[in-house]
Amino acid sequence: MAKRDYYEVLGVSKDASKDEIKKAYRKLSKKYHPDINQEEGADAKFKELSEAYEVLSDENKRAQYDRFGHNGPQQGSGGSQGFGGQDFSGFGGFEDIFGSFFGGGGARRDPNAPRQGDDLQYSMTLTFEEAVFGTEKDITVRKDVECDTCHGNGAKPGTKKKTCTYCSGQGHVTVEQNTILGRMQTQKVCPECEGSGQVFEEKCSDCHGKGTQNKKVTITVKVPEGVDNDQQIRLAGKGGPGINGGPAGDLYVVFRVKPHSNFRREGDDIFYDLNLSFPQAALGDEITVPTLTGNVSLSVPAGTQTGKQFRLREKGVQNVHGYGKGDYFVTVKVVTPEKMTERQEELLREFAEIGGEKLTEQPSSLKDRAKKFFKGE
Ligand SMILES: [Zn+2]
Ligand SMILES: [Zn+2]
Repeated sequence: MAKRDYYEVLGVSKDASKDEIKKAYRKLSKKYHPDINQEEGADAKFKELSEAYEVLSDENKRAQYDRFGHNGPQQGSGGSQGFGGQDFSGFGGFEDIFGSFFGGGGARRDPNAPRQGDDLQYSMTLTFEEAVFGTEKDITVRKDVECDTCHGNGAKPGTKKKTCTYCSGQGHVTVEQNTILGRMQTQKVCPECEGSGQVFEEKCSDCHGKGTQNKKVTITVKVPEGVDNDQQIRLAGKGGPGINGGPAGDLYVVFRVKPHSNFRREGDDIFYDLNLSFPQAALGDEITVPTLTGNVSLSVPAGTQTGKQFRLREKGVQNVHGYGKGDYFVTVKVVTPEKMTERQEELLREFAEIGGEKLTEQPSSLKDRAKKFFKGE
């Protein structure tokens, strides 16, 4: 089935503000939320809405969507390391909007249903070069992992299950609540058996029945070539462990890139400031400039002005999604000499004279200052 346009799904215009999008989502998702709307197709509608909202509420994702449509540039990134949330199972923002509405999670879908584990986030600092060329780094993340002793079921090995006495094996207890939709009877997950209806005779002593242990885990992260500050990758299944046999959550690694002393980066383009002396700029010269992949010779023509920009095509950064390379820009700055010998100054005065310029001798001219300096005045 072809995907509908996200703006159409939310019923907003292409230039809708963040607020308008949020309002539209809030309104429509109340209508189609599966806990309220039992009609056939409501669930699919809700999912479609959440997906549209996930994209349009995020500035970056929205810009990508506006440019590339449903088949975003994520396609090119390969492997399981997708970019910037093409995984829509998380329904970001849902808890924010409905958290209070449902009285802090009183009504949930089947508590015994498998649920995905928590997503985790890790911030990784990269040098300028590491981001440009990509690298591999080990990170240590503290997270819940399945308990080795009980393999996640929380029972002391060898003990049997028995019916939970708190909920008589129902897995849930009924609670009455006042909500904005009126008085609602909601079912709450049994706190004793956490919804399973059964408890073990004896809990696992290593994890105290939780089934998980909090441990330091080392994960190798492949940093793709061309990542930039604030971009992130998703490592599927490297987040918190799944609940009731559900899949593990994801680990999001967000990159912080340190600045470079020579280069400035804008997207995939690199900028370098080149200082030229007045004779170099006036007469032209062959200059060696450093690029990301080594030195390059640059011909500066005679009569080059400050601000002149030279562009070295495809000498920039490899696009992280595989869309070619950026360019390398050299911006010229002609530097006025601050220290001159007497001879240099003489020649420069002559130069000005020939050009018809009449300069008034400054009492604080460089020559005087230099003389004073050498006399130690
Ligand atoms: Zn255990
Ligand atoms: Zn129970």
